[in-house]
Amino acid sequence: MRTSQDENIDVKNTEIPIVGPAKIQNPSACGQFVNEDDAVLVNISRRNVDGSGKSKKHPKHVFFEPAGPREKIYYDPSKTKCAVVTCGGLCPGLNDVIRAIVMTLHHGYHVPSVVGIQYGLAGFVPEQGYDVVDLTPDYVSRIHEFGGTVLGSSRGPQDLEVIVDALERMNISILFMIGGDGTMRAASRVAEEIHKRGLSISIVGLPKTIDNDINFASPSFGFDTSVETAGIAIKGAHIEATGAPWGIGLVKVMGRDAGYIAAQSALSCQEVNFCLIPESPFDLHGENGFLAVLDKRMKKRGNAVIVVAEGAGQELLEESGKTDASGNVKLADFATLLKDEILSYFRAKDIEPTLKFIDPSYIIRSVPANANDRIYCSFLGIYAVHAGMTGRTGFVVSRWNGRYVHIPMDLVTKGKKRINTQSNYWRAVLESTGQPMSMKNR
Ligand code: ATP
Ligand code: MG
Repeated sequence: MRTSQDENIDVKNTEIPIVGPAKIQNPSACGQFVNEDDAVLVNISRRNVDGSGKSKKHPKHVFFEPAGPREKIYYDPSKTKCAVVTCGGLCPGLNDVIRAIVMTLHHGYHVPSVVGIQYGLAGFVPEQGYDVVDLTPDYVSRIHEFGGTVLGSSRGPQDLEVIVDALERMNISILFMIGGDGTMRAASRVAEEIHKRGLSISIVGLPKTIDNDINFASPSFGFDTSVETAGIAIKGAHIEATGAPWGIGLVKVMGRDAGYIAAQSALSCQEVNFCLIPESPFDLHGENGFLAVLDKRMKKRGNAVIVVAEGAGQELLEESGKTDASGNVKLADFATLLKDEILSYFRAKDIEPTLKFIDPSYIIRSVPANANDRIYCSFLGIYAVHAGMTGRTGFVVSRWNGRYVHIPMDLVTKGKKRINTQSNYWRAVLESTGQPMSMKNR
């Protein structure tokens, strides 16, 4: 889904660092190795097709390295020990990624030991007292049937030197870090500390974001499942709204800074009449404001379904001023304010709406991945292992232009992806909801 500014990020250096030269014959892949001459174009639009680099109109081609097994690897499989950690909030597919990593290490490379670090980065800190989990094929064989992460997760800052001390002590060769933007920043710094100490430990990132807001993860794993699950809530809201006089269904979905779940759910359900996202500010009151537009809709159709992303309308509230354990700003609760404003707006006109407020956020986060995401997560896990075994470090595995690729970590942590409200994508959302382009009074 190319809808936002990640396609405009100026990508210059796509080289992936290595901890050392790959000299060992790869025991897996039956000879189907990636040709090192192959590369995946970062920008496939026609204006870049020339690629001569002679003018601004024809910039030089930039490529991402394709993912997949290499003929030569760096780590000697029989002497390799790997670790997996999951950080940040839950997202469908975490267990599928863990499972794929473990199965590929075990069956593809015969790596004898894979350990799971419990409860995010806190699991590295000895004082916390969390044991490591022995991730055997038996242990992971059925974990994909469940949502969440078998390893647990956490937020909160941890001393990066303590993390690298723990990796050294445990004799880890490759650490797979599954998490959001914060985790990828932490991963980058762990890789720096490893480099500073001259150690041969690879850090492989697997970007996770239920909001689909990480650059160059298009879409991110779990997003498809989230949209599907949000759809169940929206369908419920629609049935509630159409089953009562002056019925309004209000559904709150995740999306702190980017409204992808709200927008994509609106597109997939087609029953949504208002999709409110952080990228498109609006007024509540006034002749062009949301309440006036809702009023018109109610008079015409007698019901409405509203989907609101958690980060929408923040400018209409006082900042909460609070942060979570990792320093992320806590958002004020706009959906509740919206509910109250709708009710008082109509009550002032002597109308009592039947408003049903549904918040499926935590259900969406914790369901098992759907078929699409299961397949996607498996590939991410498999490719993360192939890359890690070659000694590559400080990168993430992602899908770009339909191919699995390696992307330098600093590219994915450079800002966050947002919906471009000038794009055809957002226009399609507006067309499907019927809401005006702008609900601002100006
Ligand atoms: P989510 O998508 O749920 O926000 P996240 O990975 O962004 O996931 P965070 O809680 O922000 O979740 O970060 C995960 C872990 O990474 C936390 O333990 C946090 O302290 C650590 N972390 C975040 N940013 C940095 C950073 N710049 N340097 C070092 N550690 C960091
Ligand atoms: Mg985050």
